[in-house]
Amino acid sequence: MEKRFKSLSLFEFQTRFPDEDKCREYLANLKWEKGYKCPKCGHEKYCSGINKFDRQCTSCNYLESPTAGTLFHKSKLPILKAFYIVYYVSTCKNGISSTELSRKLALRQKTCWLFKQKIMKGMESSKSFLMEGKVDVDETYVGQQDDQAIGRNEGKKKIMVVAIERKGKGVSRMYGRVIETASKKNLKKFMEEHINSDADVRTDGWTGYKGLEKEFPKLLREKSEKKGKNFPQLHRSIMMFKAWLRGVHHSVHYLQSYINEYTYRFNRHKMKEGIFENLMKRMISAPPHPYKMIIG
Ligand SMILES: [Zn+2]
Repeated sequence: MEKRFKSLSLFEFQTRFPDEDKCREYLANLKWEKGYKCPKCGHEKYCSGINKFDRQCTSCNYLESPTAGTLFHKSKLPILKAFYIVYYVSTCKNGISSTELSRKLALRQKTCWLFKQKIMKGMESSKSFLMEGKVDVDETYVGQQDDQAIGRNEGKKKIMVVAIERKGKGVSRMYGRVIETASKKNLKKFMEEHINSDADVRTDGWTGYKGLEKEFPKLLREKSEKKGKNFPQLHRSIMMFKAWLRGVHHSVHYLQSYINEYTYRFNRHKMKEGIFENLMKRMISAPPHPYKMIIG
């Protein structure tokens, strides 16, 4: 069974996915990778539906398509074009805007934007790989006037908490979350979902982190006037994220989606080859994310 797709090359992508059938077959293989089980009655035998990659339960007759109940659910996009969007979003080094996707694929910009939002949902952290070792945490404002983007910010500024895992002089992983306020409750929730309790966590003197030694015994709150000096990798990571954000997106609406996209790609900078398939797997296992939820 031809299944794995591990390449960054557009040529190989086009060869692998020449038509809609190949796309549906690929999705079906990913979706039922561990075997078929009817979502309605739990029966494990099926026959093909009218469309050959659909599966129909032989007990209750429930018919399921490869895209049903996934992030592809009810997408009006032709499946082949949807594949191209996932390909470009996952493999372009700095991402790709919906305007550019629209031009490349002869689709409406809004259609691309909407589907890209669904992909970004798939890029959301699974929270199952906690950061370990040396970890730095801080909060930052996004969309503020000192971002030198005056007049381009449609929304208000937002607070984002950022954590990085340090390796040598570099950064191996990064996570971020938009928070309402930099309260202890919000910071704690983010940290517990992304950082191992045994990690050497460094942060600044902000009172929001006070008392978190209970959850993170090695927490070090450094009092510092010049944060950039004490946490160079963290502040460089934040600066790079903000620079990227300014290039692709000019408001703080949907900020969390953009954090998801940026950190997803960043955290996989050493395993690019399988990135398309990894994202496809996430899209197939994530529940639908309809328009209403996107525009919130
Ligand atoms: Zn059934």
